[in-house]
Amino acid sequence: MKNTHQYSFVADIIADPYGFTYDEIGRVLPEQDARSIYALLYKNINGKVRDMQIKDIVKDFEANKYIFELSDHKYIESVCIKRRTGTTVCVSTQVGCPVRCAFCESGKYGLIRNLGVSEIVRQVIYPNERINRIAFMGIGEPLLNYDALIKAIHILRDRNGLDFPTDGIAVSTAGVIKGLRRIREEHIKIQLVLSLHATTQEVRDYLMSGMRNNDIKETVKAALSYSQRHNRKLVIAYMPFADINDRHSDIKRLIEWLKDENVMVNLIEYNQTTNRALKPTDKARLRRIQASLENGGIETMIRSSRGRNIKAACGQLAAKYNKIGDP
Ligand code: SF4
Repeated sequence: MKNTHQYSFVADIIADPYGFTYDEIGRVLPEQDARSIYALLYKNINGKVRDMQIKDIVKDFEANKYIFELSDHKYIESVCIKRRTGTTVCVSTQVGCPVRCAFCESGKYGLIRNLGVSEIVRQVIYPNERINRIAFMGIGEPLLNYDALIKAIHILRDRNGLDFPTDGIAVSTAGVIKGLRRIREEHIKIQLVLSLHATTQEVRDYLMSGMRNNDIKETVKAALSYSQRHNRKLVIAYMPFADINDRHSDIKRLIEWLKDENVMVNLIEYNQTTNRALKPTDKARLRRIQASLENGGIETMIRSSRGRNIKAACGQLAAKYNKIGDP
C-alpha cells in the first residue's frame, strides 16, 4: 500500500516525468509500468510536458537554434549543430551565467537561476533532430549546477530510456575546481572541455571575472587529473584576443603546462558580441599560434564559432527574449 509520501512522489512524476531517473520511477511503480512509461517518454516522443515550450526556432544551413520558454517565462536556448557525422545539441544548464565572460552575452547580467533536471533533459528530447552528441556548453556553468547536471546525464544514458552513449557526451566548464574534483570521482566517462582562455590569473580575471576564486594553475591541474583518471583526452578551449592572451609568453606557458599530457587545444575564433573592446587575433597569427603549439607537442585545431549567421554564440538570442540584452 502506498503512503502519502509515495502518492505525492507519483504526482510529481506525472507532472514532470523528465526529471526522474528510471530507478526513481521504478521505486514507486510496478516494474512493468515503470519500464513502459520510461520507454514511452524517450522512444515515442509524442507531445510536450507542461511548463516548457519551444518558443522559436531559428534555422540556417549549419545550425538550428531553439529558444525555450520556461514555466516562469524565462528563456534559454539550445543549438543543434550539424556535423558531417550527425548533430550535436549544445545544451544550457542555467538561466544567465555567473561566470560573466567578457566575450559572452549570457554572462553579461549574471546568474538568474539554475535549470532543473527536466529542463536540461528536455533540451535534448524536444528538438526533432538526429542528435548523436550532447555538449553541455550552452548557457551557464554546468559544474555550478552540479547535482542537476549529473542526474540529467544519468537520465539521458539510462538504457531503459534514451540510452545515449556516454562517449557522446561532453561537459564544458570554465573550471570550477570544486566541481572538477567532484566529477573526477563520478563513474561517468564524459569528454571534459576546459574553457581556459588565459595563462595568467590577471588576464583570466579580466576575461572571466566570475572565476576569480579559482586559481588558474589549480584549475588546469584539476582538469588534467580528470583526464588522467578516466583516460580521456582533455580538450582545452582557448579563444585568442589580440594583445590580451595571444602573446608569445602565453603560448610558452600553455606548452609548459600541457606538453606530455593527453590534451587537445581548440583555438576558437571570436564571434564578436557587443563587447567591442575585444578584438579577435588575426588569422595569420592564429595559424602561427597553432604551429607553435604543435611544435611544442600539443595537438591543436582552429575552430570557427559555428552558427555565426543565426547568432549561435552563447546566449545572444535568449538574452533578447529575456529582454536583458540588445543583440
Ligand atoms: S561563455 Fe559560458 S561560462 Fe562564459 S559567461 Fe558565457 S555561458 Fe557562462
